[in-house]
Amino acid sequence: MSYDNDNIFAKILRSEIPSERVYEDDATLAFMDIMPRADGHVLVIPKGAARNMLDATPEQLAACLVTVQKIAHAQIKAFNADGTTLQQFNEAAGGQEVFHLHYHVLPRHEGIRLRPPGTMEKPELLKEHAEKIRQALS
Ligand code: AMP
Repeated sequence: MSYDNDNIFAKILRSEIPSERVYEDDATLAFMDIMPRADGHVLVIPKGAARNMLDATPEQLAACLVTVQKIAHAQIKAFNADGTTLQQFNEAAGGQEVFHLHYHVLPRHEGIRLRPPGTMEKPELLKEHAEKIRQALS
């Protein structure tokens, strides 16, 4: 399985399609999932090419997890969350739909289930949630 330079997250990295970015550093980018399964659902990706966890370098994996931790802390602060769920899927059989390595970081509240996948969020609400996370990071 090879890396496709034209996958949707590669296009987001090149700013060829819009995204609601909340954080970036030299190695990683974090942005809002357009179909959030919880308010504040963020995706963390490496800036370099990696199809998924199976072909990623140790450096990419490490950089992503450092950013995941930053985002999780910011989400907990921004949404007064009780916990965090981290999801990461590999290949279609593993549930992966976009073939650029990504981590789902989901703020969780006691007793509240994740929403089913597949419902687009209103751009204004994504913006509002992103702003809360950006403020918590600053
Ligand atoms: P998966 O590969 O199964 O981890 O799922 C891909 C995730 O990417 C889903 O949660 C989608 O809602 C999300 N997604 C797909 N396209 C975009 C996009 N253009 N911007 C932000 N998130 C996206």
